[in-house]
Amino acid sequence: MKMSEIVLTFSEYEEALREGKLLGLRCKDCSKITIPPQAVCQWCGSRNLEKEELSGEGVLETFTVIRVPPEGFEDEAPYIPCLVSLAEGCKIVGRLAYDAEKASQELLGKKVRFVKAHTWKGDKFSPPRSCPLFEVVES
Ligand SMILES: [Zn+2]
Repeated sequence: MKMSEIVLTFSEYEEALREGKLLGLRCKDCSKITIPPQAVCQWCGSRNLEKEELSGEGVLETFTVIRVPPEGFEDEAPYIPCLVSLAEGCKIVGRLAYDAEKASQELLGKKVRFVKAHTWKGDKFSPPRSCPLFEVVES
């Protein structure tokens, strides 16, 4: 039996983010998108996946404002982790580029778009990592 190849590794995904591209995996069996990348489709478990560049457009599902950061994130507070429903029908956790003092529940459901990677320096638990940074496109 042939080993199935990893179509998109996590480090390739992060590298693409830093180049301004949001990549996901399109399942050739159920046609849904898996993001961030995994070895199998997050919906049906298939390994029949192909890399696809996503629009980066979506809707803000929810967010929170971190004022007391975990160890290693002191330089970043206050910051806003968010959950975005992408136009392709999948959800992704990222950061929201928004004034933490002004962020309120009124932002929920607003259209957002992927701007670039947000990269943090890492801490004693994990190496430097990147995630997608989103901005609100309607006020
Ligand atoms: Zn699938």
